[in-house]
Amino acid sequence: MTMTGQDSLKTRRSLKVGSKSYDYYDLAAAAEKIGDISRLPFSMKVLLENLLRFEDGGHSVSVEDVQAISDWQKTKTSDREINYRPARVLMQDFTGVPAVVDLAAMRDAMTKMGGDPQKINPLSPCDLVIDHSVMVDFFGGPDAFKKNVELEFDRNGERYEFLRWGQNAFDNFRVVPPGTGICHQVNVEYLARTVWSSMEKNGSAEIAYPDTLVGTDSHTTMVNGLGVLGWGVGGIEAEAAMLGQPVTMLIPEVVGFKLMGRLKEGMTATDLVLTVTQMLRKRGVVGKFVEFFGPGLDNLTLADRATIANMAPEYGATCGIFPIDAETIRYLEFSGRPAEEVALAEAYAKAQGMWRTADSADPIFTDTLELDLDQVEPSLAGPKRPQDRVALSGVPTNIAGVFEERGHSDKSVPVAGADYALEDGAVVIAAITSCTNTSNPAVLVAAGLVARKARQKGLNVKPWVKTSLAPGSQVVTDYLEKAGLQADLDALGFDLVGYGCTTCIGNSGPLPDPIAAAIDEGDLVTAAVLSGNRNFEGRVSPQTRANYLASPPLVVAYAIAGNAKINVATDPLGEDKDGNPVYLKDIWPSNHEIQDTVRECLTADMFRSRYGNVFQGPPEWQAINVTGGETYAWNGGSTYVQHPPYFEDMAAEPAAVTDIKGARPLLMLGDSVTTDHISPAGSFKPSTPAGEYLTERQVRPADFNSYGSRRGNHEVMMRGTFANIRIRNAMVEGVEGGYSRHMPDGEQMSVYDAAMKYKAEGTPLLVFGGKEYGTGSSRDWAAKGTNLLGVKAVIVESFERIHRSNLVGMGVLPLQFKEGTTWKSLGLDGSETFDILGIEDDLKPRKDMTLVIHKADGSTNQVNLTCRIDTAGEVDYYRHGGVLQYVLRNLLAEGKAA
Ligand code: SF4
Repeated sequence: MTMTGQDSLKTRRSLKVGSKSYDYYDLAAAAEKIGDISRLPFSMKVLLENLLRFEDGGHSVSVEDVQAISDWQKTKTSDREINYRPARVLMQDFTGVPAVVDLAAMRDAMTKMGGDPQKINPLSPCDLVIDHSVMVDFFGGPDAFKKNVELEFDRNGERYEFLRWGQNAFDNFRVVPPGTGICHQVNVEYLARTVWSSMEKNGSAEIAYPDTLVGTDSHTTMVNGLGVLGWGVGGIEAEAAMLGQPVTMLIPEVVGFKLMGRLKEGMTATDLVLTVTQMLRKRGVVGKFVEFFGPGLDNLTLADRATIANMAPEYGATCGIFPIDAETIRYLEFSGRPAEEVALAEAYAKAQGMWRTADSADPIFTDTLELDLDQVEPSLAGPKRPQDRVALSGVPTNIAGVFEERGHSDKSVPVAGADYALEDGAVVIAAITSCTNTSNPAVLVAAGLVARKARQKGLNVKPWVKTSLAPGSQVVTDYLEKAGLQADLDALGFDLVGYGCTTCIGNSGPLPDPIAAAIDEGDLVTAAVLSGNRNFEGRVSPQTRANYLASPPLVVAYAIAGNAKINVATDPLGEDKDGNPVYLKDIWPSNHEIQDTVRECLTADMFRSRYGNVFQGPPEWQAINVTGGETYAWNGGSTYVQHPPYFEDMAAEPAAVTDIKGARPLLMLGDSVTTDHISPAGSFKPSTPAGEYLTERQVRPADFNSYGSRRGNHEVMMRGTFANIRIRNAMVEGVEGGYSRHMPDGEQMSVYDAAMKYKAEGTPLLVFGGKEYGTGSSRDWAAKGTNLLGVKAVIVESFERIHRSNLVGMGVLPLQFKEGTTWKSLGLDGSETFDILGIEDDLKPRKDMTLVIHKADGSTNQVNLTCRIDTAGEVDYYRHGGVLQYVLRNLLAEGKAA
């Protein structure tokens, strides 16, 4: 069922496709009223259609909003806020569990306030894919997959039982069980339709419209490769969208990225995406749409496009979209989509001027840049940021920088029980992982062929390397097996370890004890090479200081080389049976070999058969006993799922907002603080506040699991906020990890303990940061945890888009220093107290506010800040204490009015 607006511009038309008839909102008919829009970027046409379909006389969408999209062509920028309604929502389990926890808590609150709990139900289709929980505990053997799945169910039973309750309790909510695939790959291969259709709410017609979505994962953009507009939002924003709230956004700037030519022999889509990421980061596209165009598109497969779209968060863009063309339709057909859906996608795109051909005129963009594909060279990115591309030959020099930081480069420690020593630079993790690359048959087949050729030459991986293969879809296993390549990968230790995120999300599992001990003993600088998209400090493994993103075939090559000091481009990887040196070029497959293998081994039937039972899951999933009814029967003893405190004692009307007085800083941070720094997803030790909490509840360290898997329990998550082992708070100089100082006594303690002490004293808290605060995953716990620690405002030089909006969604005020001012330039050291003025007086988007600084010596100073509540809708959220409180109160009022 879908809602529609009042169509003031009379653009509704009928489209016949085969024997079926659809209604749609015709862009050409709109152009007669609002002016020519034929050269609008594809992504803007999608936004325009959305506004036309939901135009309701200005209640949420006005004719002026529609006109503003056309007018955008004159200025190519706009400060107009629009209400956008995506067709559906996608979630993964790390973010999905807390989202369902919130919905369950909202049902309780609704009941408590005298409303109807059934009002809390997703209105748009919502799919949750359980992919983030599998860890690489076992590897390098034929039973690794089975054992990892067993452990996954052991560890996550409480969460999975809760999700099965949600699956039954909520309408429009489907769960793809664990062990099936990775959400974005499942989305590209199965869930996405490019053009969606559903019956109008009054049942009068079937409406066709572009497939659009928001996802609770930043790499939701991967589906942009299929011409589907979508991006990552925080869980709270997604929950609001599920419950019928529009996403408020400014009409974006759109940067056109022109691609020309074709990739040279031997280059991969991974090399290309790392190049694109570096270029776009340099240009600066935060908060903007990126749209690819130009003749080079004809030389990119849909899988290549999906790889490029996947990394939009790494290049900083809201999305990285490709228009619909013949390749899109070829892929929809090949991946087994129903013929009726494929025919609709093609007919609709052509009717709406959304169809790209080689002759299409270039769209009008805010800004453009271009790349000749034949300039792309073999690339990795690291050691700690995805945008820091390194040419293959440059890796030894690159890791030398990490050696310099640590003060040694040639330490070596004998490994207990083995006949070798571990050296600085050792590659201890080589992981074929992540939807970014495992969705791309060409790079996986290339990895298999490298393994095959290496095996034929008698090469093997080094014994200290933890090897793994974790694809995002079971189809990968089918084609690797059909090609006989899985056997070659197995021979080198790249046995299947799971269908899920694994190393990409930091679930790389522990290193073997003797290797871990050698690293600790020598404080060795070790490396991970993975085909993922993020390598921030501490994410991949606590024991790898240099982390390189690379294509799957390069992952295999580095596992063979065994040390990042080796120049893989020019040095031998090893010796063949006769003692002759073997170089990378000797085992690197040709493009033809790769293409021929993909053509012979990947079939449409594989998609049909694997996705034919996608909601079934393994026996362990089917065996879960589902309890509970309309509301969830919370188990106070659960350490995974707890009733969150957000709606406790909530009144039907919000209290007035007030200025912040007498606040203390909790952290003073530098540039590029990621959401991983703020709310890490990986494992944690017994000595951390989260570890102590679980130990008190008789949870053994081996069963701690990860922060990500504990997001249904706010008690763990509060303790894990700002607890990243690599975060550096300038208030505790020279100390790495989640520490702060309680002021004015100056006592050093964990961030959590300091926050609780301040809370007991009634002291509001602030966090100071530098540029790009909140970079990285769309992690709403980074905002939830900040809120629960008692932080009232975050003051930085610039914000990443999603985190800023999540802070507002949790009732935390995002504030930005004026250009040229930083907390350092103000001479702050953490001993001050602060007032923030301008909140209670005429709060509006982007207004100036005043930061009053009271220094310890009694002097005061003040500076202006920009309030980064960006839209009028966000002002409402902030006034209500957060978006969920706002939605809940509205649904309650609606119910009472009805
Ligand atoms: S964690 Fe990695 S593999 Fe998982 S969805 Fe995100 S990008 Fe894909």
